[in-house]
Amino acid sequence: ISEFMDQDAVDAVSQRYEVVYDAGLVDRPEELAGLLAEARALVVRNRTQVTAALLEAAPQLKVVGRLGVGLDNIDTAACKARGVAVCPATGANDLAVAEWVIASAMLLFRLAFSARAQVIDGLWPRGACMGRETAGKALGLVGFGNIAKETARLARALGMRVLAYDPYVPADDPAWAGAQRFESLTALLAASDAVSLHVPLTDSTRHLIDAAAIAAMKPGAILLNAARGGVVDEDALVGALRSGALGGAALDVYEHEPLTQEYGQRFAGLDNLILTPHIGGVTVESNERVSKLTMENVVRVLEE
Ligand code: NAD
Repeated sequence: ISEFMDQDAVDAVSQRYEVVYDAGLVDRPEELAGLLAEARALVVRNRTQVTAALLEAAPQLKVVGRLGVGLDNIDTAACKARGVAVCPATGANDLAVAEWVIASAMLLFRLAFSARAQVIDGLWPRGACMGRETAGKALGLVGFGNIAKETARLARALGMRVLAYDPYVPADDPAWAGAQRFESLTALLAASDAVSLHVPLTDSTRHLIDAAAIAAMKPGAILLNAARGGVVDEDALVGALRSGALGGAALDVYEHEPLTQEYGQRFAGLDNLILTPHIGGVTVESNERVSKLTMENVVRVLEE
């Protein structure tokens, strides 16, 4: 296990298997490769790069457990070729991500986040903090899979109008009862007060939100990204925030993670920009659910 997980789940599986749990292994790939010489299972989060070369170092490997969803750090084709099962913890952190999206959207609409530093400095920016209510606003979901549907459920409870673009969810899918279906990404962007991204990172979604897409958004709209950093052209987003074309953004994921101090400076001085360190899907509760489900998945494959 090369990244952090819930200790109870580690303890439970340790009763039946020899377990090496070291959350720092992700940053020591050579040591990890050495440990994999005899390993039958590997458990990772999103940072460990499960490449064809790493699989070469793991001749006994039967299963890769993924503590979360999103398989962009795993060479799934190489796993398939080697007969290694890949098991994401589907569904176990949907609620955590959905709550991150809604909380971020509400803070951004209220212009509340940007006031923090001024309040500390003894300024009292009430005029600049005349925000907007969330109820009645249009939330545009790009991708309408598990997390987007959970986000839609919470958004509807707040009185938001939910719009979604996902050409892979058929028009007769019952889930569309909860969202207005858009067949064009551009049309969705133009109709949304808040746009939230819920697509996996693939060759076809890389920079899906580029300068042209951002230009299609409503003036002053907000962008929420708890999908993958590579889905957004970060330079274009920073430009749109600096020019005021967008009203705000919340980023949980970045084109290069973890951020270095130098890289992080690109976001300095931007008001109404919420930045979190890829914790959208990570809460005390979801960590327990994700860890438990991942271990169940791994043990099932090992005992097949
Ligand atoms: P999912 O597979 O249930 O849904 C993804 C949806 O995206 C699918 O319905 C698919 O049809 C759609 N899609 C794919 N390409 C598209 C495109 N070009 N345009 C529009 N739609 C497209 O996945 P999910 O469980 O909802 O998770 C979505 C992503 O969220 C994951 O792949 C992962 O990268 C990210 N994620 C981030 C965190 C976090 O902590 N920030 C946590 C969990 C998941």
